[in-house]
Amino acid sequence: MIDPRTCAARAGINCDPGLGAVVAPIQVSSAYRRADPARPGAFDYARTAQPGRAELAAAIAALEGASGAVVTSSGMAAIDLILNLIPNGARVICAHDCYGGARRLFDARAPQRGFDLVYADCTRPEFLGAVLRDGADLVFFETPSNPRLRLTDLAAACARARTAGALVVVDNTILSPALQRPIEHGADLVVSSLTKIINGHSDMVGGVVCATDKGHLEQLNWWANAAGAVSGAFDAFLAMRGLRTLPVRARVQSESALQIAEQLDAHPKVVRVDYPGLIRHPGHDIACRQQVKFGSLLSFELEEGPPAVRRLVQSLELFTLAQSLGGVESLSSIPATMTHAAMSPEARHKAGIGDGLVRLSGGLETVGAVWADLEQGLAAI
Ligand code: PLP
Repeated sequence: MIDPRTCAARAGINCDPGLGAVVAPIQVSSAYRRADPARPGAFDYARTAQPGRAELAAAIAALEGASGAVVTSSGMAAIDLILNLIPNGARVICAHDCYGGARRLFDARAPQRGFDLVYADCTRPEFLGAVLRDGADLVFFETPSNPRLRLTDLAAACARARTAGALVVVDNTILSPALQRPIEHGADLVVSSLTKIINGHSDMVGGVVCATDKGHLEQLNWWANAAGAVSGAFDAFLAMRGLRTLPVRARVQSESALQIAEQLDAHPKVVRVDYPGLIRHPGHDIACRQQVKFGSLLSFELEEGPPAVRRLVQSLELFTLAQSLGGVESLSSIPATMTHAAMSPEARHKAGIGDGLVRLSGGLETVGAVWADLEQGLAAI
């Protein structure tokens, strides 16, 4: 592959043979004319395949180093699509601290689809090894995890899962292929929410599944078409436009987040900062091995606990209190009552998501402006 920045910048450029438009127009048509009733052309019906979606899938697959990709209507639709690859009675190992919405879906699908679901701490090789001893069909985890930014050694986890005969699915939403390519470390499938840093402008919802195996791709495409879990033409266009600047945004947002994490870490009112770029972070060495940069997401707790955290997020002016991450605008959230509210209090406790945890998604504003806002907010509590 050419370098990621060039690959992203050129994605979908010059692919309009008709008028020679540099950026291909949005093809809004839901159906394509056939010359022969028995033979479809390259495009036939937009649920099955759509030009903008196909270009976007090819570009993301190239960035991830995958054989191909399926673009879906959301990150959750991408995760759900993968569950079509496992047989009834399968054993699924899921990281106990994955995104709350993913956990809600796994919890609901397990009894409905008849698979065994085991939550495990995938960041600890010995724990993952122990649950894999009873066999597994699929292992699902995020690294870094959302919101505590725990790291899983991709190569070690993938090797263990493969020995047990399991497919490994990595949720790469937090970093994106600009900063981490799980397939290079042995993952079979990579899912991402396009809603986050890949699109990066907080103006669409989408997802993607990247696969290495052609048979898996065929099955995923079959199910995406059969169930209609695909994205529309406008969303695919927006995600493609965002993707072209992804490597540049991801680098700048990561560099800013590192400086903010260091400044928060030195602040007397802050008890702990979770950010893999900090040398004392338990996953720092793993992050240096498998990531290009440390990412734009960080979380922290305050000395004064939950009520102070609530006051802090409400007094921040530059950070918008909202349920997302990865946009060009900085966002704050309290995972316990927002992104991870679907988890039971016990599950949240086990995953280390306390009521006093704040998550920040660093945007493209200057570090000076972001820090000034955090400083005034911390002074106000
Ligand atoms: N995976 C992770 C790590 C997420 O943070 C999210 C959403 O926040 C999702 C998946 C789901 O993505 P979407 O909201 O596009 O369905």
